[in-house]
Amino acid sequence: MPRSPSPSLAPAPSPPVDAYRAADSDRRRTSASAILRSVLEHGPVARSAIARLTGLSPASVTDYCGRFAELGLIREASVPRRSNGVGRPHVPVDLDGSRFVVGGVHIAVPYTTVAVLDLRGRVVAEKRLKHHGTEPAARVLANAADGLGALLADVPGRTPLSVGLATGGWVDRDSGTIVEHALLGWRDVAVREVIGARTGLPVHVDGHARALVNGERLFGRARGSRSVLHLFVGNVVDAAFATHDEVHYGPRSQAGAIAHLPLAGGTERCGCGRTGCLQAELSERTLCRRAREEGVIGGVNPMHVVAAAAGGDPVAVRLLMERARMVGRAAGLLLDVLNPDTVVVTEVGAIHREDCLGALREEVGPQRAASVLPTSFPDSVLAVAGGSVALDVLYRDPLGVRPGSN
Ligand SMILES: [Zn+2]
Repeated sequence: MPRSPSPSLAPAPSPPVDAYRAADSDRRRTSASAILRSVLEHGPVARSAIARLTGLSPASVTDYCGRFAELGLIREASVPRRSNGVGRPHVPVDLDGSRFVVGGVHIAVPYTTVAVLDLRGRVVAEKRLKHHGTEPAARVLANAADGLGALLADVPGRTPLSVGLATGGWVDRDSGTIVEHALLGWRDVAVREVIGARTGLPVHVDGHARALVNGERLFGRARGSRSVLHLFVGNVVDAAFATHDEVHYGPRSQAGAIAHLPLAGGTERCGCGRTGCLQAELSERTLCRRAREEGVIGGVNPMHVVAAAAGGDPVAVRLLMERARMVGRAAGLLLDVLNPDTVVVTEVGAIHREDCLGALREEVGPQRAASVLPTSFPDSVLAVAGGSVALDVLYRDPLGVRPGSN
């Protein structure tokens, strides 16, 4: 077997100056991110407490906080003030909620959701834009950009920092492209470019399962969890996994494509030719078709099945419970592979019905049932998905903010 030359035999070349600069800028970004995250989680919080929480020096925390205050991201919390010292370590600081917002766009199969979120991930405004039949991608994106623009204009006095766009299917964050969304029939759509040109704002793009993992880490119940799996069960079914604050992407952001994993007991024919693929079995389309066949609903809206169940229709309850058990089976499969601390499930039954969440957990098994949680954003999950893409970028690199660039 050929042996590769041992690096220890050659004298180590000194790293070029650029490598030092890059390491230094990484370190600054990491420190800035840790400090702003601790303001988000603990604010109002004293700078001395941030230093303890992050392990950074009080001088360094004071310095970063000064820069965040200049940018308008944080401000001193209102307490009685005697002197005028900006750097006093015991005056608590908090996020400045009055200045900035981000835009969120989520593209689903039947409609687009546009939203405005504040820096705490709270939805300030939200609107749903229905797709008319199979509209071309260019029209859907133009409507999304214009709809978001109108929504931002309705939130006066706040400056939009950026736009996050999330959708199902295969989304490549680095190129800002929807590589493939089979249900929409989209291929290689340069969404970042299109939305950016129309809104004049920086645009960040990601898959919605990953976007929501970031939302849960930053603003939801997975905060502080060392590893999180998110299972998104809508028309598209996909998953995302994060350990220690890092979401796994893999080459070309292809991680989390679970649509064609086989699900034991599945009976639904899939477009790929097999039976019981995870997405075919669990998709909202399948739920609605089964509900139509049994006379529960007439259309394609899964919330109508939930409403029928709430109204006491036993067939609707059975369909939702069956689906919840299958979602539990899928969650169990992923738990076996990834063993995360927390599993977050976004699925209409588990969100709206305790019995469905119970059935899902039962299928996962008693030891791990407690680690399975429904989404933290039951009323606004799609708005949060879009906005979280932008907010994740902000909290990873707060000093990269360019207010007023729009
Ligand atoms: Zn399949």
